[in-house]
Amino acid sequence: MPPVFRFAPSPNGLLHLGHAYSALLNFERARETGGRLLLRIEDIDMTRCRPEYEAAIYEDLAWLGISWETPARRQSEHLADYRAALDKLSALGLVYPAFESRAEIAKLVAAREVNGPWPRDPDGAPLYPGEAKSLSAGERKRLVESGAPYALRLDMAAACRRVARLTWGELGEGPAGEHGTVAAQPEAWGDVILARKETPTSYHLSVVVDDALQGVSEVVRGRDLFHATAVHRLLQVLLGLPEPVYRHHVLICDETGRKLSKSSRATGLRELRAAGVTPGGIRQLVGLGQVSLGVSQRLP
Ligand code: GLU
Repeated sequence: MPPVFRFAPSPNGLLHLGHAYSALLNFERARETGGRLLLRIEDIDMTRCRPEYEAAIYEDLAWLGISWETPARRQSEHLADYRAALDKLSALGLVYPAFESRAEIAKLVAAREVNGPWPRDPDGAPLYPGEAKSLSAGERKRLVESGAPYALRLDMAAACRRVARLTWGELGEGPAGEHGTVAAQPEAWGDVILARKETPTSYHLSVVVDDALQGVSEVVRGRDLFHATAVHRLLQVLLGLPEPVYRHHVLICDETGRKLSKSSRATGLRELRAAGVTPGGIRQLVGLGQVSLGVSQRLP
């Protein structure tokens, strides 16, 4: 079976050099290996995603000379798949509703920090400090029926008890040079959100479900998602899904060393194109040069 790769942008802004790099690496890997390249539109956050950004993704990728299998999978059209996975995790007793708002969570964290620093996840966000896990069944029912908004969280401690030592195969490199067999530490993320009252999924859940449904065998993506892979591996094991291999690549940074953002105009593909930069020029800018990567060359 040929290997399967995917590029999975969110249409919540215009693509920049960092996206071009990731998409080109996926494209090159698929070409080198005789594999398939899929495109997935990660548009579950309906408040931030816009059709014009999705249209721009297709156009910018085509301009770069990238081709992918059509149709692209649009996550917003597959909510039932995510709901089914969520139901499976709920049936294992691993999901609970938490009713605190963001402001309430911030307050709880501040209160706990009176006694010293409250633990943070690998992205620097405080772990969930609430106690919704221990609400009684009756209290949960009452709150749900009252129409209160909630997030469905993974009971991380219970989930970790169900799995043996978790690892993944890393062909790229993590922020501390991790390579090869990497030990996954999902507990570092605390009780992550799997879904919300209005949306039966989250980034973590849908990425895992889609990679499995689409038969993705090698995930090539930015190093900013390296640590999130621990959560993805945990969900894969809990849901009985196959394990892809991962290749996290370096991030393209601006001159101050910061990761590019969709709002930084200087590195937007549209702006560069308007300024006369060619697709070959974009390859040069991200360090890929004009020629395709040789099979023996180690990707970043
Ligand atoms: N949609 C994610 C992003 O735009 C990428 C997800 C992934 O590659 O796993 O950052």
